Amino acid sequence: MRKSQQRTAIFEELGKLKSHPRGDELYDIVRQRLPRISLGTVYRNLELLRQRGMVLELPCGDFNRYDGKISPHHHFLCRQCRRLWDFNPDIAPGESKPIKNTADFQIESQFTVFYGLCRQCLAKT
Ligand SMILES: [Zn+2]
Ligand SMILES: [Zn+2]
Repeated sequence: MRKSQQRTAIFEELGKLKSHPRGDELYDIVRQRLPRISLGTVYRNLELLRQRGMVLELPCGDFNRYDGKISPHHHFLCRQCRRLWDFNPDIAPGESKPIKNTADFQIESQFTVFYGLCRQCLAKT
């Protein structure tokens, strides 16, 4: 199996998902298409795709999650079910002004996450 085929499969499967899977969750999905792929291969390719700006890596506490949607958008992490949702609140224009590099810090990515309870979990409480 060619390496580019594996990478394409990982990229395509991630692109179909809105769930922002962890690497091991994506591995379970890609494995249905490429049964012989390894977890390490999935992580290696995710890192490569991230470096090329084709996927987003989202640090969420204990795990990184991955997003095939790279256009700027916010996220909402549910503290109960730990699901990460796309979230588009109305943010006042003044709050969205671009942040520039400083002498001390060179920005490589920015990740805003709102935190709380999703509708399903709210309904249960
Ligand atoms: Zn929830
Ligand atoms: Zn997202």
